[in-house]
Amino acid sequence: MNDRGFAVNDCHAEIIARRCFLRFIYDQLEMHLSEDPEVRGQSVFELRDGGGYKLKPSIHFHLYISTAPCGDARIFSPHGQDVETGDRHPNRKARGQLRTKIESGEGTIPVRSSGFIQTWDGVLEGERLLTMSCSDKIARWNVLGIQGALLCHFMHPIYLESIILGSLYHSDHLSRAVYCRIAGIENLPDLFQLNRPFLSGISSPESRQPGKAPNFGINWRRNDDTFEVINAMTGRVEGGNMSRICKQALFDRFMNLYGRLSSLTGQSVTTRPTLYSEAKAAVMEYQLAKQCVFQAFQKAGLGNWVQKPIEQDQFEMSQDVPDIQLKPAEGDTATTEVKKGISIFPTLEQISSLSLSLSLSLSLNFPGEKVVGQC
Ligand SMILES: [Zn+2]
Repeated sequence: MNDRGFAVNDCHAEIIARRCFLRFIYDQLEMHLSEDPEVRGQSVFELRDGGGYKLKPSIHFHLYISTAPCGDARIFSPHGQDVETGDRHPNRKARGQLRTKIESGEGTIPVRSSGFIQTWDGVLEGERLLTMSCSDKIARWNVLGIQGALLCHFMHPIYLESIILGSLYHSDHLSRAVYCRIAGIENLPDLFQLNRPFLSGISSPESRQPGKAPNFGINWRRNDDTFEVINAMTGRVEGGNMSRICKQALFDRFMNLYGRLSSLTGQSVTTRPTLYSEAKAAVMEYQLAKQCVFQAFQKAGLGNWVQKPIEQDQFEMSQDVPDIQLKPAEGDTATTEVKKGISIFPTLEQISSLSLSLSLSLSLNFPGEKVVGQC
C-alpha cells in the first residue's frame, strides 16, 4: 500500500483487467479533445444531451475470466445444488458471505462479523491489508458500473453485458455471487441500477492449472507496444516504478481532462480538486450508490464491506518520477517471497496461459442458458 497512489493493491486478473479498461476509456474520452471531427467520431463515446458522454448504441463490454472469480462464486463451485434433495452443502449457511482475499494467494476468508475498520497506522504496523474478493467487487460493479467514481464526472455508469467463465461455471453460484445476493438493494440514485449480465461458461472448458497463484500481474490494452508486469507483492513494476494502471497514473489521466470536456458535474477552475479523494467525493450520486451496495450486503446478513483506510486516497497529483527502488517501499505490503528473491517475471509459456480479457466484442459459442432475472 502506498499513500501517493503509486501501488496497485490488488493484482487478481479481474481487477487488473478493469484498471486496464479504465485506460482504454480515458483514451476514448481524450479523442474528444481533438479539433478534428473525424478523430472525435472514432471514439466509442458521443456527446450526451444535457452534458457528458454516452456510449454509442452498438458498444457493449463483456468480461471473460478463465475461471470462477475468487470468493462466493468459486468457493462452492465444485458442488452443484441438487434440485431434488435441496441444498445439503455442509457450509451452505456461508453462501453469499462477503469475503476478503488473503495476501499473496488466491484464497478468501469471510469478513469478520463484528464489522471492522482498517486503519493506516494498523497496516503500517504490519496488520494484514484486507481486500474484498473478486466476486464481491464484481457484484459492486453490477451496481456502480465498471468505470469507477472518477469517470462518473463524464458519464453514466457502464455495465457489463456478459460475464463468461472459462472453467468452474455454475449458474446458481455465479448469479448469486454477482447480483442475486444483493437483489434487495434499495434507494439507489436514478442513474444506477442492479445490472444482471448474461452469464455463461464456454463449450470446451479450459483445463485448470492448479498451483500457487503467480506473484505478478500482467496488463496491456489494444495499441500498447508492450505488456507491463506488476509485482503483486509491491504493487509496482520492475525497479519500483509506478504502474500505468495505479491510482496516481489514472488520476493524472483524469486531471488532464478535468474542465476541458463536457461533464455531468459542472466542472470549473474553481472546483478543481486537489486530492484524489476530493475528485471521487465530488460525484455524490456514485458515493450514495456505494453506500446502498454496502447496506444491501448488510441487510441480507452477508457482512460488512471492508474499506481501505481513508488515507490511501488522500494524495495529490505527483509531478515527480517515483524513486527507483529495488526493495518494496515502506508501507508497501512486502512479503518474505520478495526477500527470498523469487522471480516475479513470467516465462512466455506462463503469459500464453493467462487468458483473461475485457474486450469490446466477444464471439463464443455459449452453452449456458441465460439466467437473467431469476432472483
Ligand atoms: Zn480474485
